Amino acid sequence: MKKPTRNTGGNWTLPGVVVVRKVKNAKTGPMACSWVARSTCRQCPFTGSPCYGSSGNCGLHARRLDEQAKRSSAITLARREAACIDMLPGTIPFRGHIVGDCPTDETARIVSAAMERYMAKHDQPAYLYTHSWRTVARVSGQYQCPCFVRNGA
Ligand code: SF4
Repeated sequence: MKKPTRNTGGNWTLPGVVVVRKVKNAKTGPMACSWVARSTCRQCPFTGSPCYGSSGNCGLHARRLDEQAKRSSAITLARREAACIDMLPGTIPFRGHIVGDCPTDETARIVSAAMERYMAKHDQPAYLYTHSWRTVARVSGQYQCPCFVRNGA
């Protein structure tokens, strides 16, 4: 797999994935975060419909990632996301999946492992929400990795 590319904003990217080094959020404080193409959102009731991820500025970025990932499998996208997460210094909290999801056990294991590595660097928290809790076993991420939080939607 190709190595992640660093873009002009200092963020890490591969086709269909971008990991943002630092966002400023009044509610959460500075955080790193990941965006993944919405082809991974298989369990979300909004899949294929307008959603948070398709509106405003968020939608501009999400559509670009969707376009880049047209021929990419969920496993490939999870590997790319993990590679991008591994490029981060890990000095601030990380929130995965501003858009996107881990739709299978294997993809959850891949991304969870990267988040465990992230937390190990500087003992910072890492978490994400998933719509796939009905189909992804806890042992794939939600159980072994405390950062992998359930979302009841
Ligand atoms: S998980 Fe989020 S980004 Fe993906 S389809 Fe659902 S609302 Fe949109």
